[in-house]
Amino acid sequence: MQMNWRAGSGAAVCVVAMLVATAWAADPVPRSKEQAAMTNELPKTDAEWKKVLTPEQYRIMREKGTERAFTGRYYQTKEKGDYVCAGCGQVLFASKEKYDSGTGWPSFCGTAAPSNVTEKADTSHGMARTEVLCSRCGAHLGHVFPDGPPPSGLRYCINSEALSFRPAAKPEAGGSDR
Ligand code: FE
Repeated sequence: MQMNWRAGSGAAVCVVAMLVATAWAADPVPRSKEQAAMTNELPKTDAEWKKVLTPEQYRIMREKGTERAFTGRYYQTKEKGDYVCAGCGQVLFASKEKYDSGTGWPSFCGTAAPSNVTEKADTSHGMARTEVLCSRCGAHLGHVFPDGPPPSGLRYCINSEALSFRPAAKPEAGGSDR
């Protein structure tokens, strides 16, 4: 009996030690920037946005600013691809909806997906306009006006600074897209 009791006690100590080790290994708190990025978390505070955006992007996207016409990097872009949010990477507009409005800002007659942008009444600066925001991170993108080409009749007038262009994949060698 004495031998059996000692053997059982030893096994119990081993089980307790394993449980403690398991609890330590399962720490759910991300320990590095890389781990935080892998969880796909967005910046939440103004200070966090200032760290990931340029001063000009912050002024436009988080303070509802506007870039000067004919100065942005995408108003003349005609390549095929997607325009994603410069703040969070959500796809916002596609090149097939882009057209030259002559305004000096990237202009689109539709969105990549209606649920990817939020539209909101904006009466600032003595005007009645409709503001366009990224539905994921809340970034100000620009405005939408009812003077675009058919069939939509819409003109999404967007700041280049709020966008990042992702070119479409090139056709493989020997292939043709015609
Ligand atoms: Fe966004």
